[in-house]
Amino acid sequence: MTGQHPTTEIDTSKPHPARMYDWYLGGKDNYPVDEAMGRQMLALDPRVPVMARVNRAFMHRATRWLAGQGIRQFLDVGTGIPTEPNLHQVAQETVPDARVVYCDNDPIVLAHAAALLRGTPEGETEYLQADVRDPDAVLEGARKILDFDRPVALSLIALLHFVPDEDGAHDLVRRLLDALPSGSHLVMSHATADFTPEESRAATDRLRAAGVTLALRSREEFTRFFTGLDLVAPGVEVPHRWHPELGEPVPGQEDGVIPGYGAVARKP
Ligand code: SAH
Repeated sequence: MTGQHPTTEIDTSKPHPARMYDWYLGGKDNYPVDEAMGRQMLALDPRVPVMARVNRAFMHRATRWLAGQGIRQFLDVGTGIPTEPNLHQVAQETVPDARVVYCDNDPIVLAHAAALLRGTPEGETEYLQADVRDPDAVLEGARKILDFDRPVALSLIALLHFVPDEDGAHDLVRRLLDALPSGSHLVMSHATADFTPEESRAATDRLRAAGVTLALRSREEFTRFFTGLDLVAPGVEVPHRWHPELGEPVPGQEDGVIPGYGAVARKP
């Protein structure tokens, strides 16, 4: 296992997922290597920016749904570079005193974390630089802000397709959930090769050559993350079909395939 101990140095010699994602979303916190690889991904599938927006919109709707259920505590791992609205802003619209812990292992996210920490006066937000492959470190940091005797929404949004099976992806999720009480929720979105096997293989190969691991998972492998939990209706869906009524549609979302899954489940 590599990269478990987060560094604070921004490496501009190779593309990084957080910065490529920022580029897809039209952000400015990326470097020429990220843009170059982003353009290669676009050449394989021009819908990549729509996918990024659809994923972001899924995060908004899932967070809105959870806040509507009365969830007041959020642990978001793999947060990404801030993009308005961020998760705490969505949660605090409904629950002004919501507590949110953000976590990412990329130092560029740390460099922009100030934007993640401006919330409501009643609420609380914290940023933690940690790697999801070290769940104890994530939990230890989160415990400083969150009360683990009350339900927590754990969001792993567009994160686990960067964590291969060799790093124990399913087990990591289990260990994080084990620390949380009944009534907690797991929110996930994840890229898949199920709908576009050829483009997905080409993208995975290009990224691997540039030092980025992409672990695409099938519907069955994705669903396995929710073992022992109660999936919230409509269950495992392509992200834009999960409670579309809770947000605005992303332009172009229905024009082709969105090769991903999203779901929310409750810990009994
Ligand atoms: N959740 C955000 C960003 C997704 S991009 C959203 O959906 O809008 C994926 C993020 O996961 C990046 O910011 C990347 O730095 C982070 N990431 C990748 N591997 C990680 C790991 N092992 N531990 C923690 N964060 C990781």
